[in-house]
Amino acid sequence: MLKSLTKSGKEVLKEPFTLQFPEEREALTDNYRGVHKLDIETCISCAACARICPNQCIDMVDTFTDRGTKKMPEIHLERCLFCADCEEVCPTHCLVLTKDTSMDVYDRRDLIKRPEDLK
Ligand code: SF4
Ligand code: SF4
Repeated sequence: MLKSLTKSGKEVLKEPFTLQFPEEREALTDNYRGVHKLDIETCISCAACARICPNQCIDMVDTFTDRGTKKMPEIHLERCLFCADCEEVCPTHCLVLTKDTSMDVYDRRDLIKRPEDLK
């Protein structure tokens, strides 16, 4: 009895494992992959990212740019695996995965990111 009380007492005094999310967040690793970033100016609308995506997360949608209306990637983050195949295949390196973790939304439709949102 005394042994189990001592053990319980030790556990109570330990630092908690849980974090007070969203105020507190886990430290990110160096290779963490988060929300995509797109440079609309250097995207050449080749659609290589959309073709390689294993989960069909990328739709090419009309986007207004200084060069006129172009097809650019719209990303469905709610289906994304964060595999970075789209980043790897992009010939102009205009699509990259960042350390942005802001995916805590109440409505999954808020995870559909138009090209203009991927800044
Ligand atoms: S990270 Fe992978 S799953 Fe996500 S959009 Fe890019 S290719 Fe598709
Ligand atoms: S983001 Fe890269 S791979 Fe995708 S359409 Fe633009 S240039 Fe092509």
